Amino acid sequence: MTANKKKRITANFNLKIGDDLLSIEASVPDAKTNALELIPVFQQLTNQIVAHSIELTEREGKTISCKAGCGACCKQPIPVTLLEVEHLNQVVKRMPEQRQQRVRETFTHHLKAVKDAGLLEKLKSIKALEPDQKHQLAKDYFKLGLDCPFLENQSCGIYKDRPLECREFLVTSDPRHCAELDPQGIEHIERQMWMSSALRKLSIDSQNSDHQGWIPMIFALKLAKSGRLRFKKKLGKEWLEAFIQYAIGNG
Ligand code: SF4
Repeated sequence: MTANKKKRITANFNLKIGDDLLSIEASVPDAKTNALELIPVFQQLTNQIVAHSIELTEREGKTISCKAGCGACCKQPIPVTLLEVEHLNQVVKRMPEQRQQRVRETFTHHLKAVKDAGLLEKLKSIKALEPDQKHQLAKDYFKLGLDCPFLENQSCGIYKDRPLECREFLVTSDPRHCAELDPQGIEHIERQMWMSSALRKLSIDSQNSDHQGWIPMIFALKLAKSGRLRFKKKLGKEWLEAFIQYAIGNG
């Protein structure tokens, strides 16, 4: 690693993915910090891994169906890590007032819709549900037709800042299967590393509490506002190393 004047250090390393070696460069704070500051680094790394998966998919002659203007998958109870909860909170705070108000109102509307549909408590305890119960809950939520508060004209309104889970959701199947939440018809691209799941584990490490690290996105702004999120500090390079270890399955 090499230090620069802005008190960041640049890490250069190779990641072995299948038969390929991916060359990675990441700049992290050269000081103790909370992992929130590394979110752009984790996003960039995820973009690189996803781009590699897309390349492998295309080498097999398949085409990615996902594109701007298709928000078919953006009606799901998207899981976001606690680090992303605070990141999204900051993204919303930076929005112009009118847009910010619209987004906040949509979050509030969705929480009420979920409560009226009797799904609120189940969603709050989603991590404790069995896989088939989780799937049923996802279907029930999907049926409510609640567009993600960040969806604008069927495209992601926070594309650069979208959660890792959204970056990794890529399919080669007809978008109608996503629109119908039809698990039999949806063909995900093959992935050898799940960066969203690495960030969930890192989110647990990052907390001064025993929280499990992620929540459905509709609770994000409410949780951020509660002031219950407390992030630990470590060296930037330690957060990066932990993230990579989780991603390659060593954590
Ligand atoms: S954050 Fe963006 S990509 Fe993710 S569900 Fe919302 S609109 Fe879709």
